[in-house]
This record gives sequence, structure tokens and C-alpha cells, in this order.
Amino acid sequence: MEFKDSTVVVTGGTRGIGRAITLAFAREGAAVHAAYLCNDDAARSLIDEASGLPGTVSVFRADVSTSEGAIGLINSAAALSGHIDVLVNNAGIIRDCYLAMMSEDDWEAVIRSNINPLFHCCKWGLRKMMGRRRGSIVNISSISGLIGTPGQANYAASKGAVVSFTKSLAREAGPMGIRVNAVTAGMIKTEMTSSLKQELVEKVLKGSALGRIGTPEEIADAVLFLSSERASYITGQALVVDGGIV
Ligand code: NAD
Repeated sequence: MEFKDSTVVVTGGTRGIGRAITLAFAREGAAVHAAYLCNDDAARSLIDEASGLPGTVSVFRADVSTSEGAIGLINSAAALSGHIDVLVNNAGIIRDCYLAMMSEDDWEAVIRSNINPLFHCCKWGLRKMMGRRRGSIVNISSISGLIGTPGQANYAASKGAVVSFTKSLAREAGPMGIRVNAVTAGMIKTEMTSSLKQELVEKVLKGSALGRIGTPEEIADAVLFLSSERASYITGQALVVDGGIV
């Protein structure tokens, strides 16, 4: 019950890694507000799955790459308890293609969807944390942003930006008692990776120390640790959770 009385916002929180993060916080007693873009069935099934847990889960349909969506999300989360303790920026997309063939739309969609939510959600989330001089932000990045992946120039650029954004904001928010970290995930079993070429997945996993794909719950554990008091002296870090790929 480490997060009892805490209000937690998770973007992309009804599916994949975000869903595991939402449920992990609810298991620890938090009131979790999960944002999602369009899949109402996934949102409903999350509410069902969370019933009976010590914490609560509510869902909010919003496009967090827009200021309207992010403001709506942050305000509705703050209305639950008057404050926000933890913000997890997890929403993201891929549109893989070799650069020579990549459309402008594939470039812009990935840059917009993976970077703009950081700007909007952190800006409005910080405003709710600043008054209390406490809070934690965790942004989900990818090892693509550290080492690069062929066919993912757009995605790698956006996820590298997540790390540099995290480090800058940590310096800005630290004096206000707010910590900002990133989790740099490796290959994790979700709908996102099921759309990747299986030979690419196998090749990456073969070269890793543990030799297996990760689970969304293994990312959620790292997010909970970085959000918790046990990480009270950790900020500006990008924790690599990848089974030893990097
Ligand atoms: P997923 O596709 O299963 O889930 C992504 C979620 O984000 C979906 O619920 C989607 O609706 C939501 N989303 C996307 N854009 C949004 C927007 N503008 N507004 C609101 N919601 C939005 O993917 P996942 O594998 O669970 O990935 C979650 C995060 O982890 C992403 O940022 C992804 O880049 C990152 N990541 C994933 C892996 C992996 O192997 N799966 C590896 C490294 C990093």
C-alpha cells in the first residue's frame, strides 16, 4: 500500500505497458486516472480487472498530444483528490519504415504523438505538483532512442528526445521537490511489438543477455520504484530495463 492516498495519472494507461502500470499502482492503493485514445473496450475491461484492488482506477478518453486533451486529463485527475502525486507519460506510437521510403505523415505522426504529450502533460501536471512542492514524473522511453534501430528513425528520434527532455526537466523541477526520470524499455510483449517483424524481434533478443522478451509488468515495477520514496534521491535518470540488450 505504498501509494495509498496518492493520485496517479498514466497516459496510454488502458493497454500494454500502460495498463500494467495502472494496475500496479492500483495494487499499491493509488487512485489511478488512465488516459486512452480510442479503444473503449480496453478501457471498460481495465475497470473490470481493477475492481477488487485496494486502489481505484478511472479512465479518461483524450488525445494527450493536444493541449486540450492534456489539460482535460490533468484537471479531471486533480478533481479526484485536489492534487497529483505521480504522472507517467507512457502514450506512444510506432510507424516503422526505412527513411528513404518514409512519408512525411509517418514522420510527423510519430514525432507529434511521442513528444507533444510530454510538453502538454508535464506542463499542466507540474502546475498541480508545484504548490505542494512534491511529485514524481516518469517518462517511458525506448532503447531505440539510445542505440537506434533500422526502420525506426522517426521513433528513435522521438524516444531520444524523451531522455533529453527528462534530464532538462529534472534540473528545472528539482528545486521544487519534484523528481523526473525515464524508463528506457527494451523489447516488451505488447500489441506494439506484435506488429514488428518477428525475425527482427528474434534477432534483437538473441543478442541480449537474458535472451527473452520482457513483460509489461517488469516495466511497471521499474516505474513504481522510480515513483516511490525508495527513489527519493534519484532524478534525471533514464533507467534501462531491457534484459541486457544495450
Ligand atoms: P501499445 O500500443 O500497446 O499502447 C500504447 C497506448 O498509448 C495505447 O493505449 C494508445 O491508445 C495510447 N496512445 C497513443 N497515442 C496517444 C495519444 N495521443 N493520446 C492518448 N493515448 C495515446 O504500446 P506499448 O507497447 O504498451 O507501449 C507503451 C509505451 O512504451 C510507448 O511509449 C512505447 O513507445 C514504449 N515502449 C514500448 C516498447 C515495447 O517493446 N512494447 C519498448 C520500448 C518503449
